[in-house]
Amino acid sequence: MLTLAVDRDDDDEDGVLDGVQLTQVPSADLLEIVVGSGTRGDVHLATLGGLRLIRHGEAAATPLIIPGDQLPAPIQLQATRASLGSHAVALLVTQAGQTRRVDVQAIEVTLLDARNRPLSAANDTLSVSHFVTNDRTLPRGSDYEITSPDPNNLRVQILDAAAQGKRLTARLQAVSDGGSSLRSELELTLARPRAGMPFRSRFVRLVGDAVDRDARGVAGQVLQVALRDQVRVVYETALGEVRQVLRVGRPGDESGSRAARQAVLRTVVLRAYPGGPPVIGVDDMSALRIVREELALANEIWLQCHLTFGPPHESSVLIADPPGSTLLAISDGDGLPARGGTLQFRADAHTIGPLEIPPGARPQDTALRLAQVLRTAGFIATVTINPPAVFGAGPSADVLVRRGNGSFAQIEALAGVPISTDKQQRISIGSVDLGDGLDEFDNMTATSGTLEERTLIKALGDDDPSTIELFIVNRFAHGTRQGEAFIAASSGPVLNSVVLDRNGLRQRQTAWTLAHELGHVLLNQPLHPDNFGADMPSLLMDSDNNRGTVHGPKRLLPGDCLHVRHEAGERAYPPLLVPYDARPSAAAERFAASRATGGAVENGKTAP
Ligand SMILES: [Zn+2]
Repeated sequence: MLTLAVDRDDDDEDGVLDGVQLTQVPSADLLEIVVGSGTRGDVHLATLGGLRLIRHGEAAATPLIIPGDQLPAPIQLQATRASLGSHAVALLVTQAGQTRRVDVQAIEVTLLDARNRPLSAANDTLSVSHFVTNDRTLPRGSDYEITSPDPNNLRVQILDAAAQGKRLTARLQAVSDGGSSLRSELELTLARPRAGMPFRSRFVRLVGDAVDRDARGVAGQVLQVALRDQVRVVYETALGEVRQVLRVGRPGDESGSRAARQAVLRTVVLRAYPGGPPVIGVDDMSALRIVREELALANEIWLQCHLTFGPPHESSVLIADPPGSTLLAISDGDGLPARGGTLQFRADAHTIGPLEIPPGARPQDTALRLAQVLRTAGFIATVTINPPAVFGAGPSADVLVRRGNGSFAQIEALAGVPISTDKQQRISIGSVDLGDGLDEFDNMTATSGTLEERTLIKALGDDDPSTIELFIVNRFAHGTRQGEAFIAASSGPVLNSVVLDRNGLRQRQTAWTLAHELGHVLLNQPLHPDNFGADMPSLLMDSDNNRGTVHGPKRLLPGDCLHVRHEAGERAYPPLLVPYDARPSAAAERFAASRATGGAVENGKTAP
């Protein structure tokens, strides 16, 4: 007697259940036997019930005759239907006129959705809950027909005709890296009202982090997972172990709303002063570690939307000096035109100007003139136009000045000479001095940021609109916040950027600050739900909850997830979201194809 799981998962994620796949049938749930040892004649193989024979990865038609000269031959068995009293599953091996019957105990292992319907591995996927972990939407009871108000809860069902009694146990595991590392595990008791029926577990809720995993009152019903983990049912019988798998999130090369997506993050940790220590940690190594822990937390939160910022250890992190006086701002804040005047200043060792600015010149006109003169002097000058501030006359403009080698130029006033003689259009020098913290924007300057913020982001940003920039500073000068986000909706040159301070990091797990600020960028939404609707303090985008418990501000609504797919995916150009973790088979096929091509070329070259 052999035992097999009815092979209804999709181990190669090709969208076809393994049990009906015709070629390259995944071998995870197959059992290999060798037929025809010690015989010379042909071997005839036939099947009873739901059993397929897989040979060289392909489903073989039955009866299958294996010629004597190919023996002994390995053959793989795959169960496609459960064994029942009325439905025997067996392999019939006939050789030398004698038939041997190999009985197979085929066990159906199924994940059920919130309404007790089987989930299909071909097109369903698993999702973490959007609800507070130990709220009433996770049924605590084990009633056979009970359903779950939370659509993402699941339960395990096992149909094993050989099982005795009304209870059995199975394990539910979350495994990563193709099944090699165990993230978490639950021991489940399954029960049935009477013999002959499948056994069912209580409902299980999938969660993303340790706070939810350890929620009170729901021990044994919560499994911690990460994006693209395999969730695996492992059921041990007297004859051996059977398994079935479903993944968290669909493969990245699919287009649906539950396909895995990544937003690429680029982090810049500021040094307290040029050449000084980073603003977090005690040295560069600990700063890196802190950033990566923070990214891991953001991943745990955004898992609710099948979204990740990528493996933290692979994320780009730069530790940088605060940029010095490398930016010239024209009409910062007020956007006023010139009345007419003369500009003159020093950039490194060069005296720039005198440059006449005619009356009526708008900030961008002045900026372009300035940039022209700077370029003539050998500098790289980049002009950006800022969205007008509230009550501003119009857009202001900035000129970022770099040396030919890309390093920051040093701009200063000439001794005793004003930078501008204009009575109306002010010229300011932007630099980042973290000694007093970073000047944060207020309601007036929210769309463009303060001069210091713009200097930081324009000088150290990567100008790549498909990535999110994360800047970490020591603190905000006025202490009004711990993080802030610049988003595409403001349509300024500073976008997809998040600035966090040290306190924002200290409060991780209580305010989930990074995840929240990234939410502003991904949702392309500067406001908080409690600004205009009912206060739901458990939402990630709530503005005033800082509890570190399961009731903390960490939930995203399904609608938020759809909104992010739209704003940061289809609607964004270039998109902020890119496919994450394509199905292994597709990658393997591409690899095989490239090898085949490579081989052919090689043969062409070397063939005599
Ligand atoms: Zn916010």
